[in-house]
Amino acid sequence: MISENLKQVEENIVKACEKAGRKREEVTLIAVSKTKPIEDLKEAYETGIREFGENKVQEMTGKNEVLPKDIHWHMIGHLQRNKVKYLAPYVSLIHSVDSVRLAEEIDKQAKKVGRVIPILIEVNIAHEESKFGINETEVYDMIHTISKMPNLKIEGLMTIAPYVVDAEENRLFFHKIKQLSVDIAQKNIDNVTMNILSMGMTGDYMVAIEEGATMVRVGTGIFGERDYSKKE
Ligand SMILES: *Cc1c(COP(=O)(O)O)cnc(C)c1O
Repeated sequence: MISENLKQVEENIVKACEKAGRKREEVTLIAVSKTKPIEDLKEAYETGIREFGENKVQEMTGKNEVLPKDIHWHMIGHLQRNKVKYLAPYVSLIHSVDSVRLAEEIDKQAKKVGRVIPILIEVNIAHEESKFGINETEVYDMIHTISKMPNLKIEGLMTIAPYVVDAEENRLFFHKIKQLSVDIAQKNIDNVTMNILSMGMTGDYMVAIEEGATMVRVGTGIFGERDYSKKE
């Protein structure tokens, strides 16, 4: 079933790319495996998936320990500073940097393990109270400050669009954040690139691709609904 879902998602990505006149290689699919058991990740791995997204440090670290080493782990959830040290040795990309204090901690832990850790700045483009991420008016100041941290590399922006029934409702938000990333790129800030735009989830990843997403984060569409009822 996971392999069939993946086939469907892949077809949709290809379709969205065609519609937007983009190349398939411009878009990376991240399989969001939070709450899902190891067997499910293995099934996705067997079909060729190497990018996995998780939102809890402990869960991601546990999965990293038992799964093949050629997997790239993406931290997509709100990150607490006291947990950064656990993922610093192996994380591929942290999508959810939303404060200078968090960036300072990642920089410190990256240095300890001798790495430069790639990060994205999370922007709350729809200004939803319930969401993490910074306002787009704060983004320049934050990027300027973080760009001076030697063990971090800002590679782009991430956003979590509102939950909507009709994906078209999010098109404007995706368009806005793409524009923001183009504006930032034009500033040519040292140590900052805007090569990555992480946006789009199960409900709206095709629209996100049409509006310029380079990474889409798909969970339910690959692994099925999540069951939170049996959580401790
Ligand atoms: C859970 C999650 C996703 C995946 O959501 P689906 O709707 O299941 O595809 C994507 N991004 C973030 C930040 C998430 O927390």
